[in-house]
Amino acid sequence: MKNFDVNAIRADFPILARQVNDKPLVYLDNGASSQKPQVVIDAITNAYSHEYSNVHRGLHYLSNVATEKYEAVRATIAKFLNAASEDDIILNSGTTEGINMVAYGWAMPRMAAGDEIVLSVMEHHANIVPWHFLRERQGVVLKWVETDAAGHLDPAKVAAAITDKTKLVAITHVSNVLGSKVDVKEITRLAHAQGVPVLVDGSQAAVHMPVDVRDIGCDFYAITGHKLYGPTGSGAIYVTRERMAEMRPFIGGGDMIREVTREAVSYNDPPMKFEAGTPGIVQTIGFGVALEYLMALGMGNIARHEEQLKTYAQSRLQGLNWLNVQGNTPDKAAIFSFTLDGAAHAHDISTVLDKKGIAVRAGHHCAQPLMAHLGVTATARASFGLYNTTQEVDKLIEALELCHELLG
Ligand code: PLP
Repeated sequence: MKNFDVNAIRADFPILARQVNDKPLVYLDNGASSQKPQVVIDAITNAYSHEYSNVHRGLHYLSNVATEKYEAVRATIAKFLNAASEDDIILNSGTTEGINMVAYGWAMPRMAAGDEIVLSVMEHHANIVPWHFLRERQGVVLKWVETDAAGHLDPAKVAAAITDKTKLVAITHVSNVLGSKVDVKEITRLAHAQGVPVLVDGSQAAVHMPVDVRDIGCDFYAITGHKLYGPTGSGAIYVTRERMAEMRPFIGGGDMIREVTREAVSYNDPPMKFEAGTPGIVQTIGFGVALEYLMALGMGNIARHEEQLKTYAQSRLQGLNWLNVQGNTPDKAAIFSFTLDGAAHAHDISTVLDKKGIAVRAGHHCAQPLMAHLGVTATARASFGLYNTTQEVDKLIEALELCHELLG
């Protein structure tokens, strides 16, 4: 594959060379957070060592350098998401902040008791709890759309849940538990046809495939830096001009104002209007470097590599008839959640795998409504990233066979 030599790429990630429990690390917890390439680590070190200052405040050299580097990331994110302009990008600490900003700044002032928000049953708590706030505080009704048994979400079912009370559809692009890809472009088309804006939680999607927010046509698209091979505490939300103009600022403080007097306040132009206080300067600079790294590899190449891993993992997992893999829609990312026949708890699976140096996550994955829908309390989850290999799939299978022997 052009531009894609997985072994060379692995060498970019220093942590992948380490051992865990005397075994080479097999990192399959990318859905929770991914590892960082050396260029990102270097960018963080360089920023703190040589180029650190607060941003937007300075009339001095370092502040200007930091501001330039920080502000340049807005354009990098716009390019990564194919947004029309860097002004459509609000910088933040991650998806959780982005969705809360929409809930407080856009939805709260526009919604009254009885108004409805349509969600899928596959949402992460970050795309549920902010809407529950609106339910608790102002009587907004949450309407849930279920997936089929394979974990596929039918856009027509989402459209059918929309009524004249619906004010927003808030939906994930890729499930963090099942890996199911959601046709958010079709959902947006159907929702817009009924005059309803759409928020897409892109946390798990932007990592695995090219994303084009203008092609999707959605109103809001949230991403998080630490899953995109960047630092924690970085992220962004794409918001269309129209929605940004409707949105009230969510957090007040420095930087987001034009003028403050004893009597009144006026605000900075968007998107700065929505970015109060000292931001995650170095994290955001690192995030920009991570996105440049991904774009140099090519998101299409990453998607093709992960597609191969997924197909191989699916074929190997199918051979384990004592393993219950949740969600098998044909259109899914390389994310696998499973339980084991017998009494073993998902945590026991991850403990056995950990002894073999394999990192997976076990629990409810911040998706309790989905767990209830699946009829389980927890699953173990192996989530692949751009640096994983088919040999690592083999190691996972071998370790799962050991789990079956010990726990099944
Ligand atoms: N949405 C999805 C689908 C996720 O997987 C996650 C993180 O696991 C989030 C939202 C929250 O992201 P963050 O914790 O980075 O804000």
